[in-house]
Amino acid sequence: APVNYDVVVVGTGGAGLAAAIQAHDDGARVVIIEKMPTIGGNTIKASVGMNAAETRYQKLKGIEDSKELFYEETLKGGKFKNNPVLLREFVEQAPEAIEWLAAKDIELCDITITGGMSIDRTHRPEDRSAVGGFLISGLVKNVNLRNIEVLLETSVAEILVENGAVTGVKVVDEYNDSRIINAKSVIVATGGFSANREMVVKYRPELDGFVTTNHKGATGSGIAMLQHIGADTVDMGEIQIHPTVEQTTSYLISEAMRGGGAILVSQAGKRFYNEMETRDKVSAEIIALPEKSAWIVFDEQVRANNKAADEYIAKGFVISAPTPHELAVKLNMDQEALQTTLGRYNEFVAKQDDEDFGRKTALRHPLNKGPYFAIRIAPGVHHTMGGVTINTDTAVLDAQKEVIPGAWAAGEVVGGIHGANRIGGNAVADIIIFGIKAGHNAAKLALGH
Ligand code: ADP
Repeated sequence: APVNYDVVVVGTGGAGLAAAIQAHDDGARVVIIEKMPTIGGNTIKASVGMNAAETRYQKLKGIEDSKELFYEETLKGGKFKNNPVLLREFVEQAPEAIEWLAAKDIELCDITITGGMSIDRTHRPEDRSAVGGFLISGLVKNVNLRNIEVLLETSVAEILVENGAVTGVKVVDEYNDSRIINAKSVIVATGGFSANREMVVKYRPELDGFVTTNHKGATGSGIAMLQHIGADTVDMGEIQIHPTVEQTTSYLISEAMRGGGAILVSQAGKRFYNEMETRDKVSAEIIALPEKSAWIVFDEQVRANNKAADEYIAKGFVISAPTPHELAVKLNMDQEALQTTLGRYNEFVAKQDDEDFGRKTALRHPLNKGPYFAIRIAPGVHHTMGGVTINTDTAVLDAQKEVIPGAWAAGEVVGGIHGANRIGGNAVADIIIFGIKAGHNAAKLALGH
């Protein structure tokens, strides 16, 4: 028998959970549907943090920033391909989204930096741990507090439309039983398609054979479902490879490591690029090396400041040694070369001027405190910037840029905000900012306000 709700949320990543909480708080009866057996989607793997400019936490730390600069740097990082209207909305709403989380006891009060940004604006948990697990557990607590229903191992197979407006979804559960759920608003927060190799290769044949950092639910099903009801898409070929992925496990080595002062070194023992450039550029430089891989190298000070480092050590990714010479031996690297590279980099830190590669940010401190550490990394498919088109209300748009009434989308399933390259820390901002909006507007439509 069919069941009635006001709002159906598809997906339990950050976008879906934020949307569900907001829709509930606006008075809607909400159900969340997740095809995987666990909550958290790809968001749970998010590492570095959430970008926002002009926040209370920045002010507390005396960091001067502006929304305008955040806008410009994101646009430049996205190669000026970003949808300017969505990007403006994103930048405007970011500090409020940080406060929305704080009000729910999800405080991102430590701040670091990512590639392509000039200012510390990546907000993360106080203990400097990865943002994803912290965010999802905080959101889940809020979902549970509100008794919002979550159906796991249940896929939305189809979005139902009558007379041009959404009327609900068809779901299929783990026993392959299908049923209809009625709702005036359906929020599609199904994430990207990095784990759908066929779809990735369709748009970017040269990415065949690349590992992906994504969870296996990142198949792009939401894009297909929305296209089926007339949604338009944008930037589908814009697929980001992340430069620092441990290849045997496809595990992402967070940008927070470089943001905390780590460098990239080739097998020849040399730095080869500005480590704090955007992900697309750093990835291209690694692929251009003879080994198509590199080492992320750091010292005890960087380790001590990044909780993720200890996780990498525990996972067995990290080679360590008391001195640079001994590290070079273990890496099968020229000892003099690595010593020279570190010495030269440390001089650049001392004068805050990277003469070789023009690194301007995160020249945090000299790498001179043992033990020394290295992780072998190479790029992997990480984020799909393309997706369905929406307006600033998160209403899904068709090819004529007309809204499809009742269809909402937020998060990685949406295209346009990040242009041709997503900046680290901007995905978490995206999912929370637009998740809140989707929840609010979906509830408003369903309740007839
Ligand atoms: P975002 O970062 O945009 O919030 P995530 O990748 O974190 O996206 O989460 C998307 C979630 O949606 C994942 O947990 C994924 O398993 C789920 N999902 C994807 N397609 C479907 C579907 N057709 N039905 C139900 N859940 C889905």
